[in-house]
Amino acid sequence: MGNDAGKRVVVVGAGIVGASLAYHLAGQGAQVTLVEGECIASGVTGRSFAWINTSHSGPDPVAALRGAAIQEYRRLETELPELKVRWTGALSYGVPPDESPAVSHPPSTSQVSRAQILELEPNLKHPPRQALFAAEEGALDAVQATHALIAGAEAHGAKVLTQTRVLGFITQGAKVTGLETAKGPIEADLVVLAAGTGISQLTETLNLPLPIAASPSIFIRYQARPDLVRTLISNPAMEVRQGAGSQLLAAEDYLDDTPENQPTAIALRTARAIQDELHGVTSIVPEVACIGLRPIPVDGRPIVGYLPGIAGVYVCVMHPGVTLAAIVGRLASEEIVHDEAASALGPCRPERFFQDQGPLCKKH
Ligand SMILES: Cc1cc2nc3c(=O)[nH]c(=O)nc-3n(C[C@H](O)[C@H](O)[C@H](O)COP(=O)(O)OP(=O)(O)OC[C@H]3O[C@@H](n4cnc5c(N)ncnc54)[C@H](O)[C@@H]3O)c2cc1C
Repeated sequence: MGNDAGKRVVVVGAGIVGASLAYHLAGQGAQVTLVEGECIASGVTGRSFAWINTSHSGPDPVAALRGAAIQEYRRLETELPELKVRWTGALSYGVPPDESPAVSHPPSTSQVSRAQILELEPNLKHPPRQALFAAEEGALDAVQATHALIAGAEAHGAKVLTQTRVLGFITQGAKVTGLETAKGPIEADLVVLAAGTGISQLTETLNLPLPIAASPSIFIRYQARPDLVRTLISNPAMEVRQGAGSQLLAAEDYLDDTPENQPTAIALRTARAIQDELHGVTSIVPEVACIGLRPIPVDGRPIVGYLPGIAGVYVCVMHPGVTLAAIVGRLASEEIVHDEAASALGPCRPERFFQDQGPLCKKH
């Protein structure tokens, strides 16, 4: 087993994924520099509904990662008191069974009756006969969690450079030895790309394009009454949860770019749906309604591991990124620092996108 504690690792991207990597890498002794083009959590992390959602429909090649997501956030809460998860549980209903075949739920999920639903959510106007309640799930403030992880990384000696866009790589033969940034070069023994939807553009400069879609989704924050919703409710009319104080948070599907489907229009429609669904909504005012671009690898699987064909670059991108950031950050950093390949990351390797390019070198 190798041990690369002390090696200079530059993490690109200060969203929740880069923050988790920086925290775990620095905690294991790597010399970490976190480089961000704008400011902390200015990417999709700042527009996330941030449900630690471990359910999945269809076959799940990363079931081992999803299955560990909750316990890894519980660990982080003990390590970082500023990182707080609202462990409220999640109540889901209303999707016809033929539209949700083979959904796997976390073991804590149980079917609850109307009476139990009303105990959980007394404000529901139309409680269904039955719902699924994932008791162990929760949600967090993704911006606050990202800051907490970065503060934890800094406490372990990490340096953070914001407003520092990465423009490309410095190479020597088939090895990356650093980065060109808008503020000058940075040397690195390893570059870790956690730049979300910005990753494809960077790897293209190495002639190693990674197919990562920028998939839009709508984030809405309302001012409403405190304690309107106690759990996290997901039904065809709305996906809502309580935020801090009197904030109510919602996520909606992006439809198209027409005027009637702009985020502000969707926020008003969703507000009416919330009023139809819940008692006690006397006032509900959209404060924020915006599109977030989720980095989704085209085959749906996370991309985590060394880039083949060139030494010195590790990639880390996934959806759902909030759910998986804690477990993937820890496993990836163990691979990087201790050279311990994590079997749970096996299905995530970038090699799968380059298999028709013949043998590529695998040095790192
Ligand atoms: C409405 C909505 C609801 C969601 N709900 C959930 C949910 O309930 N649960 C869940 O798990 N996920 C959810 N997601 C998805 C989740 O938010 C993302 O998967 C996650 O935040 C991705 O984090 P990231 O760190 O990979 O990306 P980002 O937060 O985008 O971070 C990447 C960072 O890299 C920086 N960057 C990019 N290029 C460069 C460059 N060249 N140089 C320097 N810096 C660069 C960017 O500025 C950015 O800050 C939701 C997303 C949306 C939009």
